[in-house]
Amino acid sequence: SVPLGYFGGIGGASRQGILVKGANYLEALTKVKTVVFDKTGTLTQGVFDVVKINPAKGFEAEFLMEITAAAEAHSSHPIAKSIRESYGSAIDQGDIEDYEEVSGKGIRARIKGYDVLVGKAVLLKDSGILIPDEEHGIKGTLVYVAISGKYAGQILISDRLKFGAKETIRALENSGVKTVMLTGDHQTVAESVAQDLGVGEFHADLLPQDKVAWVEKLMNGDSQGKVVFVGDGINDAPVLMRADVGIAMGGLGSDAAIEAADVVLMEDQPAKLLTAIEIAFFTKKIIW
Ligand code: ADP
Ligand code: MG
Repeated sequence: SVPLGYFGGIGGASRQGILVKGANYLEALTKVKTVVFDKTGTLTQGVFDVVKINPAKGFEAEFLMEITAAAEAHSSHPIAKSIRESYGSAIDQGDIEDYEEVSGKGIRARIKGYDVLVGKAVLLKDSGILIPDEEHGIKGTLVYVAISGKYAGQILISDRLKFGAKETIRALENSGVKTVMLTGDHQTVAESVAQDLGVGEFHADLLPQDKVAWVEKLMNGDSQGKVVFVGDGINDAPVLMRADVGIAMGGLGSDAAIEAADVVLMEDQPAKLLTAIEIAFFTKKIIW
C-alpha cells in the first residue's frame, strides 16, 4: 500500500502541469535508476523541415510531393505533418483510395490509382523494391517513396533538439540516473543526436516491439531501481504500458500515448520530467 501523503503530491504535481494517474507512480519515481527516452518528438522537436527532394529518374519533384503528401494525409506522425506542410497545397481526399500506417516503418497507400509506399528503406525492401541511391552518413532522416512498385525518390528532412533536452539528460546523469535513447530512426541519425545530447546509451533501427524488449531487458537488469520510459507517439503505447512508469509528453503527444501513460507532462518540455521527480522526492520527505 502507498502512504496517504502521496495523494497530496498528485495535487501538487497537477498544479505544475503534471498529471499523475496513481500515487504508486510518485513513489516509483523516487526509485528511478534508468530513464529511457523515445527520440522523435520526445528529445527532438519532431518538427521537421524538408531540406531536399530527390526524385528518381523519370519522376518529377512536384508529382513526387503530391503523391507523398496524399499518402501522408491521415498520419499523425511528425514526418507526415512536415511533408504536408512543405507540399503546401490542399490534398484532394478523393485521391486517397486506400491507406494504412505500417507501425514504425511508414505508410502504404493507394493514391490516384497508384500503389504508394512512403517511409523507411526497409518498407520498400519488404516489397522487393530496390533503392539505387540509398545514402548513409547523412545528418537527417531520409523518407523513401515508391510508386507502382518502382523507386520514385527520396525526401530529406531534418529535426532539431528540443529546448532543455540536453540539460535534462545532464541533470539525470549527474544524479546517477542512467539515460537511454531508443529510436526507429536510422543508426547514423541516432548517433549524431545521441552525441549532441550526451545520452549514456542508444539503440537505433527499432520497431515498436523492440523498444518494449529493451525496456524489459533494462528492468530485468535492475530489480531494485525503477525504469521510466518517456515517449509521445502512437507507436509508444506498448512500451509506455510496460515500463515501471510510462510518461507521455502531452503537448504534441498522441491520444493513444496519453491513454497508455501513467504520468502525462502537459507541456512539451523534457525538463518537466525533472520537476516530476522532484515533486516525488518532496512528497516522500513530507510523508516520513
Ligand atoms: P522514433 O522511434 O524515432 O519515434 P518511429 O518509431 O515513430 O520513430 O518511426 C520510425 C521510422 O519509421 C521513422 O524514423 C521514419 O523513417 C519511419 N516512419 C514512421 N512513420 C512514418 C510516416 N508516417 N511517414 C514516413 N516515415 C515514417
Ligand atoms: Mg516517436
